[in-house]
Amino acid sequence: MAATGNNYVLVVFDSCRYDSFLRARPKIMRKLGRVERRWSYASWTAPSHFNLLMGLMPHLSPKNVFASEYYKKEFLRFNERLGRSDIEFRSLVPRLYLPPFLHDNLGYATHARVSLPVLNPKTPVNLGFDSFRLMDKHNDMRAIVREMHFSEKQPSFWLLNVGETHYPYALPDEPENEWPRVHGVHGVFKHLDDHVVGGKLTAPKTRFFNPRKLKELRARQVLAVKYLDTVIEELFDTVPKNTYITITSDHGELFGEDGYFGHGPILHEKVLEVPFVEGKLR
Ligand SMILES: [Zn+2]
Repeated sequence: MAATGNNYVLVVFDSCRYDSFLRARPKIMRKLGRVERRWSYASWTAPSHFNLLMGLMPHLSPKNVFASEYYKKEFLRFNERLGRSDIEFRSLVPRLYLPPFLHDNLGYATHARVSLPVLNPKTPVNLGFDSFRLMDKHNDMRAIVREMHFSEKQPSFWLLNVGETHYPYALPDEPENEWPRVHGVHGVFKHLDDHVVGGKLTAPKTRFFNPRKLKELRARQVLAVKYLDTVIEELFDTVPKNTYITITSDHGELFGEDGYFGHGPILHEKVLEVPFVEGKLR
């Protein structure tokens, strides 16, 4: 099949809450379009990215409509994203996964740069990619943008998993010994098997989650979004004209609401509520 169409960049701000995104008042990202309040299909990084790569963008939780009809309608938006008109709901059958479809059927170069170790290239998320790399630092989107390249011969798909918005909400130039420490909550890199951050707080630990600390952590996530807006400007300068960009999160984050911190094994509105903005720059 002829290799035509838009480049497509899917940017995932890991753990970024919808209201953190709004509070940051990003100016650059808004150039893509209206920021929508949407809902992730999952509350944890790995399943959420799997969903995104199945084409399951965060949803609008529509009422009085069959789920399958909504999904089919939403999926057709990939025509707009990819600058095509021939993509149908059944196009993904039987693999139901975008990267091999983009690569094998539409002639795309497919790349992923990820920040969180649970998405490392050995995991099954890495299917159908020409290149897939876990970045050296968990919180440096600028380093990702500087690795991006595009070809005139074929369109490119880039998945960017961005970690500045993930606990401990640290910017790349902040020394690690100044990162906030929450007792009992493991950082990103300590142990991969300890990565699941979250869970209901138990009595002995609640003293570590004092309201001041939680407020500080939330403010740090807002600050991370403000900072990322400047990196997105670099992304906008990097991508060729015919590039469609989606910016969203894989899930939200809890900052003490109803006794929860983090994400993952949590059933709460705020762990599924995510920002969603997309469009083509010019
Ligand atoms: Zn995540």
